[in-house]
Amino acid sequence: MSAPTPASDRPLAVVTGASSGIGAATARALAADGWHPVLGARRVERLQEVADEVGGTALALDVTDADSVAAFVGSVGDLVTADRPLRGLVNNAGGAKGTETVLEADEEKWRWMWESNVLGTLRVTKGLLPLLIDSGDGHVVTITSIAGLEVYDGGSGYTSAKHAEGALHRTLRGELLGQPVRVTEIAPGAVETEFSLVRFAGDEDRAAKVYEGLEPLTAGDVAEVVAFAMSRPSHVNLDTIVLKPRAQATGMRFHRET
Ligand code: NAP
Repeated sequence: MSAPTPASDRPLAVVTGASSGIGAATARALAADGWHPVLGARRVERLQEVADEVGGTALALDVTDADSVAAFVGSVGDLVTADRPLRGLVNNAGGAKGTETVLEADEEKWRWMWESNVLGTLRVTKGLLPLLIDSGDGHVVTITSIAGLEVYDGGSGYTSAKHAEGALHRTLRGELLGQPVRVTEIAPGAVETEFSLVRFAGDEDRAAKVYEGLEPLTAGDVAEVVAFAMSRPSHVNLDTIVLKPRAQATGMRFHRET
């Protein structure tokens, strides 16, 4: 793992779930915009590779484990100096498991989705908010999903977790009024990452079918939007941004070329 002293005096931005997909792409986009990304995830070798590539700092993080989050928050605090405040937090770690109906619901999968998407976002946000407030110009970005805005058959575990994560995030908007912290929810549709591989327990054929016959968003497409929101002047708060592939109308409704 990186030594806990970044070489730069660029403002710090924590990105959770930065070992792949949207999180890794966000670390790249923020580094290109002059941030020093602090990357957190469980697969530390992959995390370190991304950190080395972008000149950031990799720190082990399991958002489902309160002790891991506490250690992570402590290490982020050690990186902060007067010239190098923590100004950004991108709550991105999370994902989906399974597509069981409510009748067939698997409690273990539900627990994983609620722990990683909801309680994980709560733990990290709660831990880092004091530093973001102290910075005098903080920003919390949470990657929810269109699954946080609608429901679909077989998606109740994930849609309920993303609805809850969105509710937690949007509550901050009021609670932080008067504080120097902006709050942006980004709700993507289909993005081709490891998301479907995780959802379908490593079944590559099933994962590939999700994106068959259409051009999905890339992780970079979402990362550009995150970086755009975080690069607006301090008084401009982009509250909610929904982005989907042109070929997607809702969570379940796509146009596919045959
Ligand atoms: P991904 O490639 O599977 O990335 C998920 C990231 O989350 C990985 O870096 C993973 O790292 C991390 N993560 C998972 N559990 C974690 C834990 N307990 N502690 C710390 N990190 C954890 O998928 P992605 O599409 O980029 O997903 C990123 C976010 O976007 C998720 O919140 C997802 O729900 C949301 N989203 C995705 C899509 C889509 O279609 N892809 C659409 C809308 C929203 P480790 O495994 O190394 O810990």
